[in-house]
Amino acid sequence: MSLFHARQMDAADPLRRFREAFVAEAGGPIYLDGNSLGRLPRKALGLAEDLVQRQWGERLIRGWNDGWMALPARLGAKLAKLIGADADEVLVCDSTSVNLFKLATAAVAAQAPRRGIVTDRRNFPSDAYVLQACGDLTIADDAVAAADGGTAVVALTQTCFRTAAVYPLEETTRRVQATGAWMLWDLSHSVGAFAVDLHASGAEMAVGCTYKYCNGGPGAPAFLYVRRDLQERLLSPIPGWLGHADPFAFSLEYKPAAGIQRFLAGTPAVLSMACMEPGLDLLLEAGMGAVEAKSRRLCDYLIAEADRQLSEFGVTVASPREAAWRGSHVSLRHPEAWRLTQSLINDYAVIPDFRAPDLIRFGVAPLYNSFEDVCEAVGRLRLALRTKSYERYDAARLAVT
Ligand SMILES: *Cc1c(COP(=O)(O)O)cnc(C)c1O
Repeated sequence: MSLFHARQMDAADPLRRFREAFVAEAGGPIYLDGNSLGRLPRKALGLAEDLVQRQWGERLIRGWNDGWMALPARLGAKLAKLIGADADEVLVCDSTSVNLFKLATAAVAAQAPRRGIVTDRRNFPSDAYVLQACGDLTIADDAVAAADGGTAVVALTQTCFRTAAVYPLEETTRRVQATGAWMLWDLSHSVGAFAVDLHASGAEMAVGCTYKYCNGGPGAPAFLYVRRDLQERLLSPIPGWLGHADPFAFSLEYKPAAGIQRFLAGTPAVLSMACMEPGLDLLLEAGMGAVEAKSRRLCDYLIAEADRQLSEFGVTVASPREAAWRGSHVSLRHPEAWRLTQSLINDYAVIPDFRAPDLIRFGVAPLYNSFEDVCEAVGRLRLALRTKSYERYDAARLAVT
């Protein structure tokens, strides 16, 4: 009955056709880890071949003028549409960690004599490590309440990687700005998962990742956003040659490029950057409104099925139940979460991931996940719990969980 119902919902799903736009091994596992590494868009296959064989193999150095040099800005312009920004406010470059370092350091310098940075305890630890290197960091339970007259910037990850709890972008930004601090958002688990409107929020800065819900590929470069009116006031702490006003003048004197371009550091990673484009195009084609609507329905369905089928085994829902307060993954809590995750992957062909100490995360990628995926995943988790199939797994964790 339940599977029948799931298939009916899939048949009525307006985004159904996008599933075919991604590579999926026939008879392969149910993939619910798009919040860590999104699937491979089919178009990226042909593109990768063209990039390596023709662009690199034949065009060689001419490739830079054929379009490689323009990639950070051109892809930034596409990404801007996903986050409510203008084309000249976003660049694709470096990793999220590096971009966070660049923007937080620039913000602290611009806000002198304020030196404080405030973040919250639920942030992704890498962000906290980086922020410590940019100013005087306070890690608080309530970051907004902890901001004061010495705070230069409040840096928060909008969607919590553990529970998918989200901050309301506009309201939080307004409260932060009322203290005189700037708002720096990490949108890693937001972009491509639901509609984000940076302009409406008024936030000064943002960074984020493209290999999660944007399906950019393993280690694909990240992005950064700087509100247009601030760009000329800020300097990158990594003043590399591609952020120079005239890189090929080879002057020994650094002169920052106009606008967002000054936040480039060195040569773009062309192969992985170029492979990101098909993933961005698919999101733009689907529209973030439709993506968000489907994400909510899939997550609501997962929560309802978990309540119905798993609560008798001690599984609880760790994510917000209210869709408006939740990103696009659902975390289930169980003391055996690690071994259950192992059993799901190895015995039941379902790929979620594990976050210590007791969470199983089910990432829901609206472009390729179906109601049937969710129905099957919960059903198979129930089976793992009922048969205790996880008991034969070692409690020792792998390097990447
Ligand atoms: C995924 C993620 C990152 C990743 O950072 P990298 O520098 O790309 O490794 C950073 N911050 C948050 C909040 C993330 O979710």
